[in-house]
Amino acid sequence: MVLLGCGSLLLAGSAAGEGHVRQVLLVHSYGSEFAPFSQTSAAFRAELSRISPQPVEFLETSLEMARFDGIEREEPLVTYLESLFDGRKPDLVVPFGAPALMFCHRNRERLFPAVPILATGADKRRVSGLEEDPWITSVHFETDLPALALGIRRLLPDLRHLHVVAGTAPVDRFWEEQLRREWPPVLDGVKIHWLSDKALPEIRDELARLPARSAVIYGIMTRDAAGVSYEHDSALTKLRPASRAPVFGFAEEHLGAGTVGGSLMGTREGGRIAAGVAIRLLAGESPAAIDTPSIKPGPPQYNWRELKHWNIPLSRLPANSTILYRPPGLWQSHRTIVLVTMAALALQSVWIVLLVAARRRARESGENLRLAVDAAQVGIFRHEIGNSDEIHGSSKWRDLFDLPGTGPLHIRDVFERIHPEDHAMVRESMDRALQTGRESEIDYRMVRGDGELRWVSSRWRAERGKHRNIVRTRGASIDITARKRAEAEHAARREELARLHRVATLGELSGALAHELNQPLGSILSNAQAAMRLLSRKEITAAEFHEILGDIVTADQRAAAVIKRLRALFEQREATPQALDPHQCIREVLALLEPDMKQREMIISCRFADKLPRVHADPIQLQQVILNLFGNAMDACAGLPPDERRISVRTGSDGDHVFVEVEDNGTGFSAAPEESFQPFHTTKPGGMGMGLAVCKAVITAHHGTITAVSPPGGGAMVRFTLPCAPSS
Ligand code: ADP
Repeated sequence: MVLLGCGSLLLAGSAAGEGHVRQVLLVHSYGSEFAPFSQTSAAFRAELSRISPQPVEFLETSLEMARFDGIEREEPLVTYLESLFDGRKPDLVVPFGAPALMFCHRNRERLFPAVPILATGADKRRVSGLEEDPWITSVHFETDLPALALGIRRLLPDLRHLHVVAGTAPVDRFWEEQLRREWPPVLDGVKIHWLSDKALPEIRDELARLPARSAVIYGIMTRDAAGVSYEHDSALTKLRPASRAPVFGFAEEHLGAGTVGGSLMGTREGGRIAAGVAIRLLAGESPAAIDTPSIKPGPPQYNWRELKHWNIPLSRLPANSTILYRPPGLWQSHRTIVLVTMAALALQSVWIVLLVAARRRARESGENLRLAVDAAQVGIFRHEIGNSDEIHGSSKWRDLFDLPGTGPLHIRDVFERIHPEDHAMVRESMDRALQTGRESEIDYRMVRGDGELRWVSSRWRAERGKHRNIVRTRGASIDITARKRAEAEHAARREELARLHRVATLGELSGALAHELNQPLGSILSNAQAAMRLLSRKEITAAEFHEILGDIVTADQRAAAVIKRLRALFEQREATPQALDPHQCIREVLALLEPDMKQREMIISCRFADKLPRVHADPIQLQQVILNLFGNAMDACAGLPPDERRISVRTGSDGDHVFVEVEDNGTGFSAAPEESFQPFHTTKPGGMGMGLAVCKAVITAHHGTITAVSPPGGGAMVRFTLPCAPSS
């Protein structure tokens, strides 16, 4: 039988570019696709193309004869190649695997004289004896069979049976022999079963019936006992699915076909290293000068799918292991989707966090508001304007208005509680809020169901609807009864204080008042005596008698006026603010003080503003303020010579307020002027220190201001202001 069948020469890659094209002949042992050499040749071609400075043209031929016994059958192939090259020589011959190497070695003189041969893909065991050939250099593997066996035991510690699959081709037998020699010593306690005398279907059946604690080692099977050849790694792919035990192999490539793994032959690495050597040979280096170390098995590699299938724990793998074929995680397989989903989730999370935070804040601020509202005893209400005129109030608000229940109320229910005298005022305030849309506030009285009177302060604000019309008011009410009581008490105390002060002033004025009264009384007396005298002498006419009586009446009226003024000033009465002419007030005080001022020889000057607006004040309290200011001014001037005892009164207005200034050229304030308003602050031997304090209380109660200053020219000046009375 002559081997011709598969012998062929292929132009495997055309080189482009400039320079001398290097022709590299790849010689395959079993075909270019036969694993594991296919991996080595592919890596070699790729790497050489990448690193070669010159263009490389790959020629390929496959011997196939490695599957058959006997070298005598290669002659037709040699002849074929001889005629094919016809005197032309490739730049480099690269046999893959030991059969191709041996073929090249044997026929080198005939086919490739003086052409360097780079042997690759073969195991060290297979290339021994070729070292003497100066045209051959090799990049060979050094498969560590004992380490492979120990690796299997490490993964399967209770291993008892090891079934070795091997074929009948020379290369198959070669490896079986290696295993038979190297494994038994290291696989102590493990029974090794050799399946090389069986055809593949039988082997498959056997693998399907394997006992427990078994493993299979796939040596190499290019041809089975029945003489059937198997391309590539097809024998392995047929056997693996049938096996009831894990299957192990030597080469990286077998991992993909279903072997478990271990420290495997780095076939791709061999191809890459060989490419480096090829560059040197193509550059003219002698093959004999190149000595490449053997390629040792690489770090352990395992097939993740097989490990899982056979329940081999990952913890049994050596630390430096690489796991291949692990199904990609969600991240690797759907990176974009994962990223987008994560971004969406992150966004959603942030959104949720923000919403939760916002809700919590809203709840917190709601709680805080409720707390504040409760603490402040504030009742909240909402009044729906329109047909319903409903009013909804918080429980606090309903308590305040003594309107128990929970349902909505009508506004008229609320008005039933409001003091009838305040109805108009509350309505007016409500209408103002509705018309202006502004906030409105009002204090009013309310009568609870049991008749108890309470003061309420309500503040409300109008709210607009979709069409900008006012649809409701919202507001708050608070019980201010206690405050109103306190204010009333305060006012009463101030009244009392003012009265006491007036009484004290009366004491000071008594001398002058006595003088003031003595004059009309004396006049009455003397007129009456004169009339009596004339009557007894019958010397008086009716007309004269009428004149005398007229003088008596006038004098009496003067005395009565003085007394009336005094009574008005000192009587105990409630303050009744009214629109007053400040000038009138000042004149009345001056009239009251006239006798005293005369006695003290005071010079009074008045600079009254024209058309001074009226002020809103209680007349007696205002008189008291002015009386006090004149009294202090007179006291301050007491030590001066009579012609220097001057007091001037000035009035004016800025339209909103009226001011009154009382200035003297007396001693001036001994301390900071504002201290004079402190109660009981006095520099006078018999002083009370209450005059200016009362003045301040009165003016402040009338919404005015009072200040004291020391004018640059000496003396003192006190100025007070009062709001102008609303013009009616
Ligand atoms: P009293 O007149 O009883 O002392 P006042 O409150 O009226 O109480 O005055 C307090 C103090 O303010 C006076 O003792 C005085 O020292 C000072 N004072 C008030 N008015 C004047 C003034 N026109 N000139 C100088 N000092 C004044």
